[in-house]
Amino acid sequence: MDCGSGTTRRLAELGLPWQQISHVAISHFHIDHHQDLPSILFAWKYGQLPPRSAPIEIIGPAGTRGLLERLAAAYGEWVLNPGYPVRVTELAPGGSFDLGGATLACTKVPHTPESIAYSITEGARRLVYSGDTGFDPGFAAWARRCDALVLECSLPTAMAIPEHLTPEQCGEIARLAEPRRLVLTHLYPPVESVDIAALVAATYNGPVVIARDGWQTELGD
Ligand SMILES: [Zn+2]
Ligand SMILES: [Zn+2]
Repeated sequence: MDCGSGTTRRLAELGLPWQQISHVAISHFHIDHHQDLPSILFAWKYGQLPPRSAPIEIIGPAGTRGLLERLAAAYGEWVLNPGYPVRVTELAPGGSFDLGGATLACTKVPHTPESIAYSITEGARRLVYSGDTGFDPGFAAWARRCDALVLECSLPTAMAIPEHLTPEQCGEIARLAEPRRLVLTHLYPPVESVDIAALVAATYNGPVVIARDGWQTELGD
C-alpha cells in the first residue's frame, strides 16, 4: 500500500522480503505516496541476483499509467521496462482487483481528485487503508466493522485542513466505523506534539495502535 520516500530502504532494514512483493497499490499522486516506486523498480532489477523475472502489478487510480510514463521520461525507459513485466491497472472508485485468494477494492476519498482508499478482503477478514483523506462519514460507512482500519492522522487541530484528519476526527471516524482495531499512521511531526491517544479516546474506546518507525519489528510480527 503506497510507496513513499524511504520505503525500499525501510523494507530492507526491517528484514522484510521486498524481493517477493507482487503488487503495489498507490492511493494518490502526492510524492510521499509514490516517490520510492522508481527506487524499488530499480532494486528489483539490480539489487538482487538473479534479477527479478516475476511481473509486478502496479494498481492505482486513473492517471497511474501517466505518472509512470512521466517517471520513465525523467529517469529512463527501465521504469516501465526493467527486464520483468510491469503491469499497470487503473481502478475507478468502486472497482476491485483479484489478488488471488484475496480481493483489493477501493473507494473515493476527499483529498485530491484522484484519491482512493483501499480494502483487502481475505475470507472473513478485511483490512481498510484510508490513504490520505479528509473527514468523510461515507468512508467510515465503507470501512464499517473491518478488522483493521489503517487511518491517516496527519495534523493537530491547530493546523486542521479539509484534506487531512486530526486525532479528534480519527476518533469520530472510528466511532462510526467500529473497526476491531484502529491503526493511526501518516503522522506529520506537529501532530506528535499532542496526546493523540487521549484525543482519539474521547470519542472511540476500541483498541488503537499509533504507528512508529520500526514498529513492526518491535511487535515481533
Ligand atoms: Zn496526500
Ligand atoms: Zn500523504
